Amino acid sequence: MTDADEAAWTRRSVLAVVPPAQPRRLAKVPFVELADGRLQGVVSSGSDIERVYVSSVAAGNHAYHCSTNNNRPCGGLRGAPCKHLEALAEEAVLQYGVDPVARYLRVDAGPDVRGGRDLLARMDTRHEPTPAAVVFSRFLRHLAYLELPDSTTALPELHWFPATGAVR
Ligand SMILES: [Zn+2]
Repeated sequence: MTDADEAAWTRRSVLAVVPPAQPRRLAKVPFVELADGRLQGVVSSGSDIERVYVSSVAAGNHAYHCSTNNNRPCGGLRGAPCKHLEALAEEAVLQYGVDPVARYLRVDAGPDVRGGRDLLARMDTRHEPTPAAVVFSRFLRHLAYLELPDSTTALPELHWFPATGAVR
């Protein structure tokens, strides 16, 4: 990684850790960002604590995808965004506020749109597989960044949940 990449990452990370507009459910959605032309993030599995999903919706054409971090397609995608995408959209609205998210994704949000689910329902979405690896590595870098100030131990690969102290 070049110094320029490193600097760019650091800038993005600083943006990513600004306090949310409203309290977020970090255990459910440990990572959400508006970056690379997408709303993207990491959503915990409802049933398996060691499994996470990488979900994203592209700005403009509203192509969405959801898979495990190993690129296994989410079983909840049945011609419509799954519950992980809904959770991601809800958290994005908590993090950034409804108008900034709508502007970024280029959604025409009416006054009755309050949460991320409403926003998702206003989009003409379509499914388009995208690789999970980029988003997932950004998530791991994000965690490492949060860990750095008061931790000298390496981040155990699976211990990304807030209970480990990644988010205080
Ligand atoms: Zn899913």
